[in-house]
Amino acid sequence: MRILFIIIGCTFFLANDKKQASPRKIIDVHFHAHLSTDYPSPPPANAVTGKTPGWKNDKEMMSRMLATLKDNNVVKAIACGSLTTVGNFQIADPQRIIPALSYPDAQHNSLPDTAEFVRYFQEKRFTVFGELGLQYEEKILSDPELEPYLSICERMAIPVAFHTGITGPDKVYTCCPKARSHLGNPQLIEDVLVKHPRMKIQLMHMGYPWLEETKAIMFMYPQVHADLGVINWRIPVAEFYNYLKSFIDAGFEKRIMFGSDQMAWADAIPLAIKTLRMLHF
Ligand SMILES: [Zn+2]
Repeated sequence: MRILFIIIGCTFFLANDKKQASPRKIIDVHFHAHLSTDYPSPPPANAVTGKTPGWKNDKEMMSRMLATLKDNNVVKAIACGSLTTVGNFQIADPQRIIPALSYPDAQHNSLPDTAEFVRYFQEKRFTVFGELGLQYEEKILSDPELEPYLSICERMAIPVAFHTGITGPDKVYTCCPKARSHLGNPQLIEDVLVKHPRMKIQLMHMGYPWLEETKAIMFMYPQVHADLGVINWRIPVAEFYNYLKSFIDAGFEKRIMFGSDQMAWADAIPLAIKTLRMLHF
């Protein structure tokens, strides 16, 4: 579990560190390696900053994303996507990029079979299994399709990064007609946690807005961690702070990890960092 240990040890930075002279090293556990064609042309503007991404092709997109990580002292980023896309990001910046296998991915690739899955992990083509955006496909983690993969993850200590919470406001009417809000409730993973007690799992988006349900899962299952992807820049800041503070007050501080979930928008990365640097508690 080297990866998870490093993440937990380094990522969470709070206002107490504001006075430090040198910038903190940051690990982004929720970074996306996309193709430019995963988005319409031109790509949509960042809903918060209003800026439209300036990249025009895959190469420009990748170099913009990698430069933004570097400029913001993000020393490691767990990049999720298809094996090909994350592989290209890793080739371009091998010291910074840690590859993760998304399912489903933006190019609608099917999962490798279980033998290939093991081989790809052993070959270090991926280190984390996720983002598992099952909510977009009206599936849950206990879906029989996933069970053999989760057994492998438990046995081989592969962290599982699972999308929880909600989707974007217009997803049901655009890309993802099967997505449903109730499928993001972290309570739905409980049977999987019971069946796989040694499986390490990362609740992406920290279950937002399922506050009590997420806290109940994190209290009862100490192997569960969470990341702050998207909620640290996309939702109103006061709402994010209230949500985060409730987890910190409950004693989960050391199990919360920084993630940006920048998707098409490189400017989301400094925005997410700034939101956390301005924390007042
Ligand atoms: Zn997600």
